Amino acid sequence: MNEQNQKPLVNPATRYAQPPFEKQPQEAPGLASKMQPVPDHGEESYKGSGKLNGRKALITGGDSGIGRAAAIAYAREGADVVINYLPEEQSDADEVVELITAAGRKGYAIPGDITNEKFCESLVAEAAEKLGGIDILINNAGRQQAVDSLSDLSSEGFDATIKTNIYAPFWITKAALPHLPEGSVIIATTSVQAYDPSENLFDYAQTKAANVAFVKSLAKQLGPKGIRVNGVAPGPVWTPLQTSGGQPQDAIVEFGQKTPLGRPGQPAELASIFVQLADSESSYTTGQVYGAAGGSGNP
Ligand code: NAD
Ligand code: MG
Repeated sequence: MNEQNQKPLVNPATRYAQPPFEKQPQEAPGLASKMQPVPDHGEESYKGSGKLNGRKALITGGDSGIGRAAAIAYAREGADVVINYLPEEQSDADEVVELITAAGRKGYAIPGDITNEKFCESLVAEAAEKLGGIDILINNAGRQQAVDSLSDLSSEGFDATIKTNIYAPFWITKAALPHLPEGSVIIATTSVQAYDPSENLFDYAQTKAANVAFVKSLAKQLGPKGIRVNGVAPGPVWTPLQTSGGQPQDAIVEFGQKTPLGRPGQPAELASIFVQLADSESSYTTGQVYGAAGGSGNP
């Protein structure tokens, strides 16, 4: 091979910013644009090669973080993409739609609160109408608020976490099923928290375990129908979810330090997993959860 065409080796430990980080509280859901450093969602780096040409993707939480990295990668792989997010995240969402359009694909932004069943139904209907169908559904939006003591965890907080992380994927997937042709894929974003829950993420960790069961059960139900269902289980990833209450600010300072790579992952580092799971080349992969946790964690 011509040496000039060789891809340079990359040291994963030193590829991205390492702790310590600045404390940087934001109100949930937070904006990626306000983080220091601003996360890498692959804006400059992700190169597509037609793996998802003509595909139609609905991605919840596609404005920032892991969902945004998937949205950018999908567009550069040839897919049209609808993202959902909360209205207060409009500025992050605008950037994503611009990036999708710059990739030569159609990008649509549909804001709204997925803790509302009626909104979930209208989101799917509108996405299917705009895209002319749906064949990739990523249930990625999530709520994570650290609470040290069970005594301080309110029913409202518990309910909001369950609604966002368990009910919404149920409502959205149920509404999407009639639209999904054979060969479609559903992808859930679960977490290392499903397998090794932190003491201050009592409610969140339970929902992420539920997301694993969602994948394992639905893959069995939909396998005979020709629809694959898989999950991604990230470790610590540098996103607004974490800086806007997902972790106490003291933990943000050393975020990712305890992993063998000594740093948090960047959303861009997970994009290729979402591409692979959506790609029909992975046609025997269903009911699986792929980890990306910097060397520790499960699966
Ligand atoms: P993020 O804050 O960038 O994305 C989460 C998104 O969820 C937000 O952008 C928001 O648009 C959406 N959301 C939250 N509540 C909503 C609601 N009621 N209605 C509509 N949208 C809502 O953070 P992220 O880390 O990229 O999170 C994406 C997924 O990754 C989540 O499911 C999270 O549990 C999971 N995850 C994250 C990490 C991590 O360290 N960042 C680790 C493991 C798993
Ligand atoms: Mg966001």
